[in-house]
Amino acid sequence: LSDTPCQIEVHSIIDSTNSELMRRIQAHQSIPKGQVLVAEMQQAGRGRRGRQWQSPFGANLYYSCYWQLDEGMQAAMGLSIAVGLAVHDALKALFDLDVQLKWPNDVYLNEQKLAGILVELDGQVEGPCHLVIGIGLNVAMPDSAAGQIDQAWTDLSQHVNAVNKNQLVAVLTLCLQKRLEIYQRHGLSVMTEQWNALNVHRQQGVTLTTGQKQWRGICEGIDSQGGLVLRQDGELKTYYGGEISVRKE
Ligand code: ATP
Repeated sequence: LSDTPCQIEVHSIIDSTNSELMRRIQAHQSIPKGQVLVAEMQQAGRGRRGRQWQSPFGANLYYSCYWQLDEGMQAAMGLSIAVGLAVHDALKALFDLDVQLKWPNDVYLNEQKLAGILVELDGQVEGPCHLVIGIGLNVAMPDSAAGQIDQAWTDLSQHVNAVNKNQLVAVLTLCLQKRLEIYQRHGLSVMTEQWNALNVHRQQGVTLTTGQKQWRGICEGIDSQGGLVLRQDGELKTYYGGEISVRKE
């Protein structure tokens, strides 16, 4: 499937799997491309813009992968689109589940959040760009944490009988490497159609929010760069940027 060597490092408790890989990047440690780090609990799991990712001890998956792109930061734009598809591929292959994807970085099942993706990078406009691809996937949420998530969520245990977490990590890693290699070779244009078919907001009225600004429109899907296309008063407008949130009207 892939000739990228892969090491999987397992921690019991960590602040954040993404933070640990990012510290190693910033300390200029040599990290093999494809290195995976998982933990059984995160004490400071993160979502976008400093939001918390609930990461109690137990069966959930807290997963980060190191990757490198040679073409500078610009090339990383839209990467979370490819990562969402990799999560889809793994859950389809293992459990025949059909997840939906929410722009730019979430995985849903029956309109409830199953997984979050957090891509962080260290690099310049040109030259090598170091990437940390974080995936938090709810496998079996302990009751103690269930009440602490302030939006509709789900976990795999509500949909499938038995989850072998080792197998999940292995298949997810293979699916992720495959999508990342396709992304590097061909860009997003070969994946946009598939992503659009899985879009949780497909043809629905949505509101985009960033800071104080809001835009409303019908969600048409993504373009070949990973930007979100809205139909507004009959015209198509594309939005880019990692700071935008999308909500159903
Ligand atoms: P956006 O659409 O702006 O990305 P988001 O709500 O998806 O918003 P993220 O940064 O992706 O934001 O994820 C953090 C949010 O996800 C938290 O604010 C919380 O609402 C929710 N959340 C936190 N932990 C979990 C979890 N384990 N499972 C599902 N949802 C969670």
